[in-house]
Amino acid sequence: MVAITEELVGSLLDITGYPASDFFAKLLAIKLLFKDPMIINGREIMHEIFIETEDQRAILETVQRFVESEVTPRSAELDANTDPEASYSWEIVEKAHEVGLRQATLSEKYGGMGLDSLTTSMVIEELGKGDLGVSVIFAQTLKIAKIMEAALNEEQRSRVLPIFAKDPRGMLGIGITEPDNASNYFIPHPTPFRTTAEKTDGGWIVNGMKHFISNGNRASFYLVFIQTEKGTPLAEGSTCFLLERDREGFSIGRVHDKMGERLANNAELVFQDCFLPDENIIGGLNNGFKVLSEFLPQSNAYAASSILGVAGACYEKALNWTKIRVQGGKPLIEHDGIRAQLAEMRMLIDASRSYIHRACYLADNQDQGWDKTLGVLPKTMASQAAWKIATWCLEIHGGHGYMKEFGVEKLVRDAAAFLHSDGVNRTLFLKAANFMYED
Ligand SMILES: Cc1cc2nc3c(=O)[nH]c(=O)nc-3n(C[C@H](O)[C@H](O)[C@H](O)COP(=O)(O)OP(=O)(O)OC[C@H]3O[C@@H](n4cnc5c(N)ncnc54)[C@H](O)[C@@H]3O)c2cc1C
Repeated sequence: MVAITEELVGSLLDITGYPASDFFAKLLAIKLLFKDPMIINGREIMHEIFIETEDQRAILETVQRFVESEVTPRSAELDANTDPEASYSWEIVEKAHEVGLRQATLSEKYGGMGLDSLTTSMVIEELGKGDLGVSVIFAQTLKIAKIMEAALNEEQRSRVLPIFAKDPRGMLGIGITEPDNASNYFIPHPTPFRTTAEKTDGGWIVNGMKHFISNGNRASFYLVFIQTEKGTPLAEGSTCFLLERDREGFSIGRVHDKMGERLANNAELVFQDCFLPDENIIGGLNNGFKVLSEFLPQSNAYAASSILGVAGACYEKALNWTKIRVQGGKPLIEHDGIRAQLAEMRMLIDASRSYIHRACYLADNQDQGWDKTLGVLPKTMASQAAWKIATWCLEIHGGHGYMKEFGVEKLVRDAAAFLHSDGVNRTLFLKAANFMYED
């Protein structure tokens, strides 16, 4: 922590050129010069998670422009396709590559911007305001790229990251869920994964399948969790493998036909005597769950950011409608009941965002107070908020909201997505309780 006196602030203001009377300028000046929580005359002032930096603002403006020009004009039409594969847009992916968004979490060494978790969550939320599916395909890719850079060994990194970084269609996926093992890995149940690997010369023969996998049919590289130790629980006997899309014996099964989040594809990953070499093991044999807990602390908060984007879109839509719809002799916004409802929506969004930002900041700075519930609860909060806000948006639109052409119906379908994705909410509450009362 940095203790700051009035004298020090005064000299900082001289350096930065801000008018000394402007309190917010003072905060900004201090923020620009110090990264840690700060003390002014004995009082702690705002922590950096509550202040958007210049860099973050510039990045978010780029993302807003990207959403306006590439996502918003396409979203409703793509969503309306009955074939789930037709709802996916490579054009959006390629444009994201052009602006550097697709690969933004990679370090500069690999052509990225090295975004931290807090900034990444802001980007994901901004994308979610445009379209949930688009937010999810990039949230997965941004998250897994970062994990890969941290968890892969040097040889693996040099095989994968330059290819991924250059490929305008390079997307990433993570395969854990199976038809028989889903909540079983969130609340570790002593059962093995059904996707298994048998040892052979120089590697492993894999058989089985994963399902519901985001980017499953679109990714070029995956992290997959496979049972390598027979007869042991999945949390103890599974290994994280790097999987390349073109491996013999690996294929894509069904592409799931989802209720919402349609601009993202989810698919089955099928393994039929698929050979994976020893060199593709990530983080050591039977260490799959160690990889999960070590390298994915912010995963839940990213999911929360995607769905919070939908909540924000619902709020904006509801607000706009209240300004133009006149009933009872005045616009809806002038009715007290509606005004109070809008304020409650705002509260739910702000509180969810604060929770997400705290989780992301602490995921990157665990020595400052990370606790494991931050890895499971932000998504439950944001998805419950989004669901409530979406149904209120529908209510505020009255019968108009039920008509497809108003676009509320799509938002309601999207808002349901994260009540279950990334762990069913009820299961995550149980997981948090197990962390809270583990002693
Ligand atoms: C859109 C979408 C995207 C996804 N993307 C991915 C992905 O990229 N990669 C991936 O690996 N997975 C992915 N998943 C899978 C997701 O994580 C699972 O759907 C989720 O874990 C829940 O599993 P399930 O749907 O089979 O529900 P189940 O596990 O069958 O749960 C059903 C119900 O039983 C309850 N329940 C389960 N166990 C317990 C228990 N022990 N105690 C009390 N209640 C319990 C649950 O709370 C729930 O209400 C995705 C899912 C969706 C819908």
